[in-house]
Amino acid sequence: MKACVLYKKGDLRYTDIDEPQIKDPNEVKVKIQNAGICGSDQHYYLEGGIGSAIVVREPLVIGHEGCGIVTEVGEGVTDIKVGDMVILRPARPCFRDDCFYCQHHMYSYCENMRHLGSAATLPHTQGLFAEYVVAHKAQCRVVKNMAPEVAAFAEPLGIAYNGVHSLGEIIGKNVLVMGAGPIGCLCAASAKVLGADRVTVVDIRDEPLQIALKMGADEVCNSKTNPEQIEKWSANKGHFDCTIEATGNGFACESAMRMTMPTGTVSQVGMFGTGHQPKDLGAFATKGLKWNAVFRFYEEFGPCVNALEKGFIDPLPLLSAKFKACDVVKAMEAAISPDTCKVQIYFD
Ligand SMILES: [Zn+2]
Ligand SMILES: [Zn+2]
Repeated sequence: MKACVLYKKGDLRYTDIDEPQIKDPNEVKVKIQNAGICGSDQHYYLEGGIGSAIVVREPLVIGHEGCGIVTEVGEGVTDIKVGDMVILRPARPCFRDDCFYCQHHMYSYCENMRHLGSAATLPHTQGLFAEYVVAHKAQCRVVKNMAPEVAAFAEPLGIAYNGVHSLGEIIGKNVLVMGAGPIGCLCAASAKVLGADRVTVVDIRDEPLQIALKMGADEVCNSKTNPEQIEKWSANKGHFDCTIEATGNGFACESAMRMTMPTGTVSQVGMFGTGHQPKDLGAFATKGLKWNAVFRFYEEFGPCVNALEKGFIDPLPLLSAKFKACDVVKAMEAAISPDTCKVQIYFD
């Protein structure tokens, strides 16, 4: 079968690999339709890894945001049928009796976690940019009448839901979102749907801010061209009840802390890579802020699939382009370009 395989930094090929087979009675085989290119996929391509801890050491099929049609099920699978459309949850915890975190339902922290399209484990866990994928039944959520372009947004929406979830009670709150990339925009949409009164999105470019407005933001601000507004929101110990930091940029994080009112929560969704780390934590300390790290998601998956299925959130304003899987290098270059938001690949 065909797959998009990353051999090393900058070496991504559409090539033939062995088709995966069902080995466990609880597994499901899926023919992939659409899959999104995530920031982490871009890091794999550009840097050959994510930070210094996760490095590609063998050929890796990238991708973890996708959906497809079931072509085969193991004997232990009763509630998923051949022909069903499923969205894949990338996390596959071990569910073992001797895993403390699985036993305590803290699946994101499973000690034997396998995450689709990840080089964190060796052998690597192969991802979704392939014609066929075999996954555990717990990773497959059946959906009906959903466009594959929409379904492929469930994974990033899961991250956004976790970001909102980690703010705690948000009913009636005035929420700030830093960053208008796909995740920031999905955070803005999620916060609105989950009960925020007002959502403001800040970025340094106008085009993504226009998309944030389409996704449900009430107000946007370009911090580069309108720094006076950022100063106003930072005065008198801040303006927002709580904040989702979705850039992973230290300067944006420091600014977010200044704009958040005392005792508020900053939900850290953006991952700090090798760039600027937040250093000035004065506002954090003197205003009694809470700073919650958000790492992946688990129980948010069901509710966010519901939100897409029922149309509570329309992610399509975020989709800039889709490419055939054979054009994965073009797709990757497009995804990396600052002129696009989300880029997907698809298999016919
Ligand atoms: Zn992702
Ligand atoms: Zn486990």
